[in-house]
Amino acid sequence: TETGLQTETLSLDPAPVAPERDLMSKFDGLIAERRALLDSGITDPFAIVMEEVRSPTEAVIKGRDTILLGTYNYMGMTFDPDVIAAGKQALDRFGSGTNGSRMLNGTFHDHMEVEQALRDFYGMTGAIVFSTGYMANLGIISTLAAKGEYVILDADSHASIYDGCAQGNAEIVRFRHNSVEDLDKRLGRLPKEPGKLVVLEGVYSMLGDIAPLKEMVAVARKHGAMVLVDEAHSMGFFGPNGRGVYEAQGLDVDFVVGTFSKSVGTVGGFVVSNHPKFEAVRLACRPYIFTASLPPSVVATAAASIRKLMTAHDKRDRLWRNARALHAGLTGMGFRLGTATCDSAIVAVLLDDQVQAATMWQALLEGGLYVNMARPPATPAGTFLLRCSICAEHTPEQIERVLTMFRQAGQAVGVIG
Ligand code: PMP
Repeated sequence: TETGLQTETLSLDPAPVAPERDLMSKFDGLIAERRALLDSGITDPFAIVMEEVRSPTEAVIKGRDTILLGTYNYMGMTFDPDVIAAGKQALDRFGSGTNGSRMLNGTFHDHMEVEQALRDFYGMTGAIVFSTGYMANLGIISTLAAKGEYVILDADSHASIYDGCAQGNAEIVRFRHNSVEDLDKRLGRLPKEPGKLVVLEGVYSMLGDIAPLKEMVAVARKHGAMVLVDEAHSMGFFGPNGRGVYEAQGLDVDFVVGTFSKSVGTVGGFVVSNHPKFEAVRLACRPYIFTASLPPSVVATAAASIRKLMTAHDKRDRLWRNARALHAGLTGMGFRLGTATCDSAIVAVLLDDQVQAATMWQALLEGGLYVNMARPPATPAGTFLLRCSICAEHTPEQIERVLTMFRQAGQAVGVIG
């Protein structure tokens, strides 16, 4: 059954109040657009239900066995027996939830454990856990940069980074995606005195491209700015210790943001830092203070998973092998991809427009493959794509089947010859 967003019940019928006073009338455009897509016979790409999840790479969707290639479950930790055991034990010992903020009654034994696991993983002195990665960005950006100071961010930044800027009171300056030159130019135009925070991402999640962090961090330092890097899509498999693109490029940065919802395989967010005053963030950060902390079972699974990721060299190798095989296979068939080389564990297949993307997405789903369909505003302007995120636990046979399904769907829809 199709639950999720009740698209079939979305109605454009006149509202019971005058249209100019109906706050819901602003959604008419969105409702009409969705209706038009569904009327063309396409399944709603944003209302998929996982009826059963069998492993990090397999689920049942619409009654069909489906390979998962759009989950961010890069390291395949969701079914790790040690991770599951840690969660069950915490559930038994500490109950289902904390009923409160980290500041009051919501800090349990495993919140301390997971913060220690993060300090060990990153080799840093400070770690603060938030309820999601979204809230980590919201909290840290709005708390670090105050009125009269500056946040300088990449134009293609994740929504949580933009929302962190909107939540705070600093001046916001955007620079062209991955342009070192534009970053330098914009920093050069700012007054010297006020504090500045440059916000970057290691991997940009829509195209799967990586940032020239080495050059960007050098430019930021030259202008006296502090640097925060969101490493959501690199944890576990970039750099000698899996710390991220910044580690792979041999850099020190002031703050690293991450999430438990991708390589760690659960939910939660964090910031790590070596700054000696970092702990003070807990006293001032509203998205840390004014919300309930993560359930004990969640932080226990995260701690177990992070500790295992520290030595997951085999998984790392398998993930890169899978990513390279998929990138090479799709390139060979003639698909246009988000990056010329295999730069990360995200392979984005670029399509002409929404209809082509949705038709291709549906053909893949009906063949038994789930990928993410992405469109503006999540993607850069005018970009429609199918995003594949690869898992260490995909077998070589699954990657072969994925490529066969892409060939069949691509030819059927006319994306490739
Ligand atoms: N930062 C980036 C770059 C992301 O892609 C995401 C999630 N897609 C987040 C932060 C938010 O993470 P979470 O899912 O933990 O809220």
